[in-house]
Amino acid sequence: MIDVSEPPPKGAMLSISTCQATRSDGEPCAAPVGEAGFCFWHDPQRRGEMLEASRKGGSRKAVPLPVGRPIEAEEARGLLAATLAGLLQGALDPTTARAAAYILQVERKIAEGEEMERRLSAIEALIPGGNGKTAWHR
Ligand SMILES: [Zn+2]
Repeated sequence: MIDVSEPPPKGAMLSISTCQATRSDGEPCAAPVGEAGFCFWHDPQRRGEMLEASRKGGSRKAVPLPVGRPIEAEEARGLLAATLAGLLQGALDPTTARAAAYILQVERKIAEGEEMERRLSAIEALIPGGNGKTAWHR
């Protein structure tokens, strides 16, 4: 008799059917499916959960979606990791992954610029005898 409580061998795990979604480049999604016939990335229910998590401020595990608001540094790193994971699992096409990585890079550049400006303003405020730039024009 076969003991059904045994986990399936690794070979059987590989034969699990793939996600029924189509990637943005038209290729079928190659990521392994979850409960609803979709992978982690394309599960419509999970997408709702991710949006909810994003609204609540998000946990480390959640993938926050950048819906028209600035991305925090930690979120940006999370998105980058999620993009890489999606790409490696076959759920994300390389073009989208590359574009996402580029956008995140631009976002970080902007954030760095803002941080520099903020620190410069703080230093200027510390210069005695004047408020900011006027101190230089006495
Ligand atoms: Zn998928």
